[in-house]
Amino acid sequence: MPQPDRAARLTAALDRDGATCIWCGRALGGLVPASTEHVVPRVKGGPSWAENEVAACRRCNAARGHVAPVEWLEECRRRGWSPDEPRLERTLTGLAAAIAERGGQRRARPYLDAQLRRLNRRAPRAAGA
Ligand SMILES: [Zn+2]
Repeated sequence: MPQPDRAARLTAALDRDGATCIWCGRALGGLVPASTEHVVPRVKGGPSWAENEVAACRRCNAARGHVAPVEWLEECRRRGWSPDEPRLERTLTGLAAAIAERGGQRRARPYLDAQLRRLNRRAPRAAGA
């Protein structure tokens, strides 16, 4: 199935998640333009799919580089920013589901699994939930 183009995917991400940066929480638009952030970096095999893309400000996008998303979330907290952990968890989970459905992405799979494990270790589910 063809994916919408990059600009359309960014607009869709803003509509889906709200117009704030996933990493610092700043409102996007005007002086803080939105940019496309790949949750699983493309150099780690992350696909250019809507499911792998969220909006971030250019500062955070550039500052993160190729750091893994959960490690970067922790770094954002150390810097006193307000990263959107529920959005990150939703995106990682949704990407895992999209890969399971469409197949392929052999490099992204183990990377994504490791990130989800790390995220779940940080926020253990209540027993019996
Ligand atoms: Zn930001």
